[in-house]
Amino acid sequence: MNQNTYLRSLKSGLMKILDLIIKKGTKKYSVIHLKCPKCQEGNLFVHRNPYNLRTCLLMPDRCPVCNQDFQIEPGFYYGALWTSYPLVVLITIAVTSFFYLYLDVPLYVFIFILAFSMLGLQPYILRFGRAVWINVFVRFDKNKAVENLDR
Ligand SMILES: [Zn+2]
Repeated sequence: MNQNTYLRSLKSGLMKILDLIIKKGTKKYSVIHLKCPKCQEGNLFVHRNPYNLRTCLLMPDRCPVCNQDFQIEPGFYYGALWTSYPLVVLITIAVTSFFYLYLDVPLYVFIFILAFSMLGLQPYILRFGRAVWINVFVRFDKNKAVENLDR
């Protein structure tokens, strides 16, 4: 098993554990899986890899499964700044708490690590911010879901 296969199976195992905790039909499910808020089947983003910075935020105009409009109005995702900012704050608090409680490193090392983790996580932060934002306005519709809710 090479490293890529190992990481993929680790990620899929983690997602299965998350599926046991977070049920389909909740907004959390849509955000964690980056799925359409209405049917929770169609992907919110065109490409799966968030680290291709040219296509990181590329979204289809409509959900390929239920036809939900993803571009609700012009500039809709400017509002996602309101949801990605708290994510940044939460990550900063978590990293700061970890370093403060468990590690004794100089301040400049801590700032360096925090800055790099923020840069590294930025594509995910932007995507989750958008997913949270569209979930504020669009509700899950079980009639639009193709698969059984009790999956
Ligand atoms: Zn959909």
